[in-house]
Amino acid sequence: MSWLDKIVPSKAKSQLASSSKVPEGLWKKCVKCSSVLYRPELEKNLDVCPKCDHHFRIGARRRLDIFLDEDNREELATDVEPIDRLNFKDVKKYKDRLNDAQKKTGEKDALVAMRGELNGMPVVVAAFEFSFHGGSMGYVVGEKFTRAAQVALEENIPFICFAATGGARMQEALISLMQMAKTSAVIERLKQQGTPYISFMTDPVYGGVSASLALLGDINTAEPGVRAGFAGPNIIEQTIRQKLPKGFQLSEFLLEHGAIDMIIHRKELREKMSSLLTKFTYYSNPQVVAEPDEIILAEEVNDQEVDKDIDQKNPAA
Ligand SMILES: [Zn+2]
Repeated sequence: MSWLDKIVPSKAKSQLASSSKVPEGLWKKCVKCSSVLYRPELEKNLDVCPKCDHHFRIGARRRLDIFLDEDNREELATDVEPIDRLNFKDVKKYKDRLNDAQKKTGEKDALVAMRGELNGMPVVVAAFEFSFHGGSMGYVVGEKFTRAAQVALEENIPFICFAATGGARMQEALISLMQMAKTSAVIERLKQQGTPYISFMTDPVYGGVSASLALLGDINTAEPGVRAGFAGPNIIEQTIRQKLPKGFQLSEFLLEHGAIDMIIHRKELREKMSSLLTKFTYYSNPQVVAEPDEIILAEEVNDQEVDKDIDQKNPAA
C-alpha cells in the first residue's frame, strides 16, 4: 500500500478515480493527444484522431468493412474452429480463455478472411482481431490464412493481410509455431505463381507473426505509428543493456531503416492499395485515376509544347 492509499479515505479515492475518467459511450479520449473526441465524428473519420492523426486500433470486421467494396463480399474458412489439443492450463484453462475471448469478440478466433473487391478488382483479404487473445497466431489463424491464400492462388487474385498481433499463441505450443512454417510456405507458392501478396501491418505486430507472414509480402506496408518487431523494446534493452534510439520499432523508424517499404494513411489506403495492385496485375482499374497534380502537370507540358510549336511555325512572332 502506498502512502497515498493510507491517508486518503476510500470514498474520496473512488470519487477521484471516477472524476478523472472520460464517460463511456459518446466520447472517446485520444491516447496520444488526450483530446476528448465525439465518437460518431471519430468513426466518420475512420477512427483517426482529427487533432493529432493518431490511428486508433480497430477490429478485424471494421477493418475489412472500410477496406472492401460494399458488394460481393464472401467470408472464407468459417468452419475452422480452435481445438485445445494439449489440454493446456496455466493460471486458467485454455478452453476457458477461448470461451471468454469468443464471448467478448463474437469471433471464433483471431483471424477473419474474406473474398471481395477493391474498387472493382477481385481480392482476398485477411485481418487479425487483436482483441481476441491479443491477435495471437494458433492453429485457426494459420489455417484460415492458408486457406484464404489458396483461394488467391486458385483464382490468381491479389492477397492482402492486415496483421495486428502479439505473436504466436503459447497455449498451443508447437502447433502454434508450426503456423509460421505453414503460412511462409503458402506465401512462397504465391510468389512462385506470381500472385501478389501484400502485408499491411497495424498496431502492434510482434513475435512469430512478424517473423513470418507479416514481413514476407511482395510489398510490406504499415499504418503510421505502428509498433512492430520480433521482441519488444523492453526485452531488447534488458538484453543488450543499452538505451534504444527514439522511435525504435515504430513504422516510421522501420521505413527509414529499410525494414518496410511504405507507410499508408488509413484514409488513403483503398486508393493507394488499388493503385499498387494495378501495377502488379494486368487488371486496369477504371476507378483509379491519375492524381490531380499529375493531370495539371500534363496540361502544362502540353501547353508548353503547343507554345513551342507556335513559335517554330511563326519565327517572326
Ligand atoms: Zn489525438
